[in-house]
Amino acid sequence: MRHLYIHVPFCARRCSYCDFAIAVRKRVPAARYVETIRREHALRREREPGWDTPLDTLYLGGGTPSLLPPGDLADLVTTFALNSDAEVTLEANPDDVTLDAAAAWSSCGVTRVSLGVQSFHAAVLEWMHRTHDVAAAERAVETLRAAGIGEVSLDLIFALPAGMEHDFRRDLERAIRLAPDHLAVYGLSVEPRTPLARWVARGRTVLGDDEQFAHEFLLAHEILTEAGFDHYEVSNYARRLPQGGSRRARHNWAYWNDAAYAGLGPSAHGFAEGIRRWNVREWVAYERAVARGNDPIEGKERLTPAQRALERVYLGLRTVAGIPAADLANPSSSRSFLAATDAGWLTTRAGRVYATPSGWLMLDALAAALTTSPEGG
Ligand code: SF4
Repeated sequence: MRHLYIHVPFCARRCSYCDFAIAVRKRVPAARYVETIRREHALRREREPGWDTPLDTLYLGGGTPSLLPPGDLADLVTTFALNSDAEVTLEANPDDVTLDAAAAWSSCGVTRVSLGVQSFHAAVLEWMHRTHDVAAAERAVETLRAAGIGEVSLDLIFALPAGMEHDFRRDLERAIRLAPDHLAVYGLSVEPRTPLARWVARGRTVLGDDEQFAHEFLLAHEILTEAGFDHYEVSNYARRLPQGGSRRARHNWAYWNDAAYAGLGPSAHGFAEGIRRWNVREWVAYERAVARGNDPIEGKERLTPAQRALERVYLGLRTVAGIPAADLANPSSSRSFLAATDAGWLTTRAGRVYATPSGWLMLDALAAALTTSPEGG
């Protein structure tokens, strides 16, 4: 197991669109949290092989991992054996980034910070219930650089509701001016039981349509690739390097390439040898289970061969790595394949099949058609 995700569930408040497993806390129980993760880790090491392998990537996601005081964060990171060139990513909110905190993150081994910027429009940030303002996002990038964090990634959200006066082109241009190493660009989605879902149900918020979504998705592709970024996965862009290659997120790249990974913390998922499993979602239940010495796993499933085939096609088509044409039975005679190629959604090069940016707009349907149609294999 060379890739580990740790879920840090605490947030200062819930953003309007967020349905992640979070615990809103004024005061984060950081020492208790770190101790609980260490106990889960010890329990896994006792019961399963592979937990002592040094990690290639460690990802602290949330929630808001940057809410952990630097000393507790260092205790957490140093729990794990890391390879000398390991990628250690910390998700951070811009208003948690101070020079002292960022220097401490860098000293304990954090190599990469993923900043939840979301937008450079003040009204949008307010609507999202974000805790930071535009200036904090810009300051945070400078501070991370000054503290020696080698890689900075920015998250942006597009396809915002009508009437927000949101100029997504401006967001992209301001992000580029900050010279990030990486950008993650997500379309807004409405998840059940979120404030956004309630606003939509009451008619208070009117969502953008598919046309707006497609326009802004392709606008990001055009502007960011022109600015020197490699659009290497549906939602992710990596700065191209002068010596070739680009600054891809190695942890996420492992997910998309079907690698085994482990998870610790509430709601964390793991995947190995065709088995997916996940921990109990809520922090309080998770903490209680671990404190009693119980396994906090809530469920697991072994994927069927058909599910594995669909997943491999879906994951492969998400990225510029594509999939071997041989994974699709007789692609050249498959009606689904030919229709998708004619529509410009798929291309084939050197025995591999790739989704184009317009194909990425309909990835779910594409993967399902290619794996379930009787003639598509
Ligand atoms: S900071 Fe992130 S995890 Fe926390 S509520 Fe906002 S979107 Fe959700």
